[in-house]
Amino acid sequence: MYNIHCNQLNEKEKEFENALRPFFFKSFGGQNKIIDNLKIFVQAAKSRCEALDHVLLYGSPGLGKTTLSNIIANELNVGIKVTSGPVLDKPGDLAGILTSLKKNDVLFIDEIHRLNPIVEEYLYSAMENYRIDIMVDKGPSARSIQIEIEPFTLVGATTRSGLLTSPLRSRFGINLHLEYYDIETLTSIIKRSASILEVPCDEDSAFEIAYRSRGTPRICNALLRRVRDFAQVKGNGKIDKFITCFALEALNIDKYGLDEIDNKILLTIIDKFNGGPVGLTTISIALGEDPGTIEEVYEPFLVKEGFIKRTPRGREVTQLAYKHLGRSICKKQGILFNNL
Ligand code: ADP
Repeated sequence: MYNIHCNQLNEKEKEFENALRPFFFKSFGGQNKIIDNLKIFVQAAKSRCEALDHVLLYGSPGLGKTTLSNIIANELNVGIKVTSGPVLDKPGDLAGILTSLKKNDVLFIDEIHRLNPIVEEYLYSAMENYRIDIMVDKGPSARSIQIEIEPFTLVGATTRSGLLTSPLRSRFGINLHLEYYDIETLTSIIKRSASILEVPCDEDSAFEIAYRSRGTPRICNALLRRVRDFAQVKGNGKIDKFITCFALEALNIDKYGLDEIDNKILLTIIDKFNGGPVGLTTISIALGEDPGTIEEVYEPFLVKEGFIKRTPRGREVTQLAYKHLGRSICKKQGILFNNL
């Protein structure tokens, strides 16, 4: 099954993403309020020759957190070191990366909610005082040594800001929530990507791809790549409306941008649990999917578009989901009908 949401990118996909990544504010489309504010903070820090305050970026996968962290470093004209919460396993790993930072550099920690709690404790003093206290040796000879580090900016990215501990959250001076993108912005992102990839793509096709991209730049770029394949093999190499619709149909992306897994989630709640409410774990077992992936990757868009409601008793599908899937329900008797 083709999965446009996959957050675990292989090397080729990473290379593709990097090629399309904007490097400066001016080529980063959308998120206007965030960008306007960031421009001010960056300019102020630059004029004071200080490190920018620590920045927390949160939002669904593919909305541009990694891209923005790189832009922040580029605009500040400083270096950037990139790591992620699960990779920083031991305090020594953190100490290694912190001591390699130059003055005012950016340290980007992706998935910061997955930091080892012990490493997180060490990060507090690094963020606050630019200093880390590391324990060396064990037993009676154990002692703490203090390492001074250069002033730096921590840019933390998370898809689950609710999982961040409050001591960590409170140490970020700038908190930014990335929203889903509107169709217009996604259309211009697709046109920009198509021109970098040197594939002709007309306005209607860009709009159609944008419309089915779940408000997410990563998805619009991934769809563009797939449509380009169809254009090369089934068409004349150009992306037009006909080949776009043909490709999106073949990829099972429906007019709302929902793919097979989204529709499977909705159908599972309708067919197996009478439309809900049903708990996330139960849905994930029924689907054989990881509950975290459902909660982080699929659910936010289904909730945003009004297909699912989150209630205190669990997830419930809405009338829109029934309509979309061509179902009607008689909840009291618990009978489902197919509108055939
Ligand atoms: P995240 O870190 O939030 O998962 P990324 O920053 O890796 O997302 O972005 C995924 C892809 O989407 C990248 O290829 C990036 O170039 C593209 N992208 C994200 N936001 C934008 C934007 N605002 N304008 C243009 N391209 C974007």
